[in-house]
Amino acid sequence: MSNLKVAIQKSGRLSEDSLRLFKECGIKFNNGAKKLKAQSSNFPIEFLFLRDDDIPGYVEDGIADIGIVGQNVHEEYQKQIEVVKHLGFSRCRLSLAVPREEKYSDISFFEGKNIATSYPNILKKFLDTKGITAEIHQISGSVEIAPGIGLAEGICDIVSSGSTLLSNGLKEVETVMKSEAVMVADSKLSDEKRVLLNQLIFRINSVLEGKN
Ligand code: ATP
Ligand code: ZN
Repeated sequence: MSNLKVAIQKSGRLSEDSLRLFKECGIKFNNGAKKLKAQSSNFPIEFLFLRDDDIPGYVEDGIADIGIVGQNVHEEYQKQIEVVKHLGFSRCRLSLAVPREEKYSDISFFEGKNIATSYPNILKKFLDTKGITAEIHQISGSVEIAPGIGLAEGICDIVSSGSTLLSNGLKEVETVMKSEAVMVADSKLSDEKRVLLNQLIFRINSVLEGKN
């Protein structure tokens, strides 16, 4: 029987909970340090450990059959893949923030301003629905330092507690989207792999129900 290939973040905020979920489903595997792949010994599953940003593309291309990513990453990359399960962990939000000393009354603040973000597509869509035109600067990391170095008047970034914003002299002013980890799947899965995916989701549902 062919394996269900599952793409999981190699190291980061999704990794631990993603691995824990499979263990709680009774799926055994050995993931030694720095390995790229791991095979389960008791379920036809193979794990691929990747950067989260690469997961939607690999699933669309069929390199992986399913994957776990944040909804923020799923939305940003706009790949032709399906969300098959909301997983309830890695909850966070994508928010707009500005320097603490700015007078902010509403979204019109951003009209004609420069905004730094790693999520240009999500931000553009959000600003369009609000009728705001801004200059979006895509940067891949350390977005929160952009106002301090004069790159942008505001940022759009992932927030959970808000402590990173605070320590960079920023305040959160608008929520763009809420996010949690989701399981995504290739929309062109074979019938055989669909059966495996359904078995997996059945186990995940029992695990998640046990937590409520
Ligand atoms: P990679 O090296 O794989 O590209 P990364 O640095 O882009 O990793 P992480 O910071 O590990 O990504 O975050 C992965 C995902 O976890 C985010 O896309 C988001 O959905 C979620 N996340 C990010 N920050 C938090 C947080 N503070 N609390 C909870 N979930 C978060
Ligand atoms: Zn990433």
